Amino acid sequence: MIHYQLRCGQDHDFDGWFKDSVSFEKQAKRGLIDCPECGGTDVERALMAPALSKRDSLPMTTESAPPPAKTAPATPEKTATGRMPAQMLAALQKLRAEVEKTSDYVGQDFANRARAIHRGEAEPKSIYGETSEEQAESLAEEGISVARIPWVPRADG
Ligand SMILES: [Zn+2]
Repeated sequence: MIHYQLRCGQDHDFDGWFKDSVSFEKQAKRGLIDCPECGGTDVERALMAPALSKRDSLPMTTESAPPPAKTAPATPEKTATGRMPAQMLAALQKLRAEVEKTSDYVGQDFANRARAIHRGEAEPKSIYGETSEEQAESLAEEGISVARIPWVPRADG
């Protein structure tokens, strides 16, 4: 199973779970994936790419703004592949809490910020945000470590 952060033609974000990328492509092509907010089937992938700079022992940053509400909540039961296993959801919620606690949210500016930190042009700290697949790939090519994690609703709502 893979998770995609999806976005409809009207910029609504939602989550989808698929057997593999081929299965996503097929469903998207046939208009089988619809936006839970507006029902639009003009859906494409929007990647989340939380990540950090290379060291583990980074100082904790000051409290960061929470990600915009539009990245949550997920509605997996409305997707073609059904509900996420509770165990997986719990593990992902823990991961999300950890990322939010230790990292700064930089939104769409993620690729630029990651690059600046990598080059020593910005203060080294953990950041997370959103980026396109192309940007994530080019970061990887530049030797910047980027992790992708499925972004789930918080455990505490
Ligand atoms: Zn929509």
